[in-house]
Amino acid sequence: MKQISPSAQADARVQDVSAILREAPLSRGAVDALHDVARQMLKSTEGEVMALALRRIFDVVPAAQRVTVVAWPPHPEQGFVPLLPEEILRREGIPTSPVSASMARQAVESAQALYFLGALSDHAALSQAPSVIANQIQSAVYVPLLDEADAPIGLLCVDTPRPSAPILPPDFHFIRAVGALLAAALAADRIRQEAHRREMAAREEEVRRRAMANCLRIASHDLKNPLFAVQLAAHALSRGPKPEMRDVIVEEIQHAVVRAQRLIGTYLDASEMLDGRPLEAELADVDVHALLAEEIEFLRSVHRERPPQVENAVEPGTLRADPDKLRQVFANLLSNACKYSPPEAPIRVDSEGSGGWVTFRVSDRGVGIAPQDQASLFQPFQRVGDTSSTEGTGLGLWITRALVEAQGGRISVESTPGVGSTFCVRLPLRY
Ligand code: ADP
Repeated sequence: MKQISPSAQADARVQDVSAILREAPLSRGAVDALHDVARQMLKSTEGEVMALALRRIFDVVPAAQRVTVVAWPPHPEQGFVPLLPEEILRREGIPTSPVSASMARQAVESAQALYFLGALSDHAALSQAPSVIANQIQSAVYVPLLDEADAPIGLLCVDTPRPSAPILPPDFHFIRAVGALLAAALAADRIRQEAHRREMAAREEEVRRRAMANCLRIASHDLKNPLFAVQLAAHALSRGPKPEMRDVIVEEIQHAVVRAQRLIGTYLDASEMLDGRPLEAELADVDVHALLAEEIEFLRSVHRERPPQVENAVEPGTLRADPDKLRQVFANLLSNACKYSPPEAPIRVDSEGSGGWVTFRVSDRGVGIAPQDQASLFQPFQRVGDTSSTEGTGLGLWITRALVEAQGGRISVESTPGVGSTFCVRLPLRY
């Protein structure tokens, strides 16, 4: 499709106005007013152009008592929706006209400005229309505002309830010309908005593309650690270790494999989410105390040299949840609690049920998180505070939130810098 720039579009409509000026001589004041509106169009927003145009109608056409610009077609429930917000109309002191549905329809169907002069005009039959009678419209000009494809997008309505001072033919031509300018302003604004929308979409795509590239880089970097552990263990095995060491080495290999599998699971989840697909939960009865005990055991064996002190104070009992997702949630929160705390600092996980929900709290006495950073933690690629000495992707909490939400839950954080953090996971109690 041929692209039309806003200014080219405005030019095309200004030529429509030129045609009106040629065929219908207007007063000097009316022509100046049109030039004024046209000049402002190129530098103003749609709202400003409209307000200016409506004000100038009152300046040039003393008979005009009420004026409004509404969107076309009318809203199925709200009826005629004004295109200029009421507060602007009030501020500019513009009295709004009622909209006669019969006149509006006739003007739009004929795609031409309608000039109504009571019983005297070509449209005398409209005098009997209920909306004309109810609103005491004595004379009026209704101009359909057409877009670049000549489809109606709005309607300029000017009228007066005074029988003694009707809107006169030169006024009709002036109002018609203002309508043409307004249509151009509306069409130009639509094109501007469309250009803006496309620009935003292109930017979003760029952010997504970078996030994907980042993800791949991080994934390959993270996977090197467990692979390296397997390589070392394989090397140790090849040298014929003592039987008691053999078991330790085999266990190290198993742990490294679990770590690698979890990283792969995390990146698969991340890629689903970056693709805009929500994670889906597979619910089962989960013994959370036992699940957590396994996770703590795993964590301690991974950090065999300095096992973290984790207290499992989760109440016994089963919960309907997704076991793999819940395991991953605890794994991420516990791994962060270890990562962002001194090695000897205690970590505690407890639970409390009330009002159809159970809340799990993972508390540490680590570095804590500044209040202004707490809201952004759950966004992708967000690392906050001093992360120079800790490895990480900034994806963990983002994925954790998605894992919790997939199970119908919510996650939040309470933290005081230098004191510690508590991550709260609230899950619904399903029976
Ligand atoms: P990362 O891979 O960087 O750990 P996360 O998404 O898991 O990514 O965490 C995001 C950021 O939140 C971390 O970089 C860290 O700054 C902060 N954070 C997470 N958990 C804790 C915690 N328990 N204590 C202090 N800061 C934390």
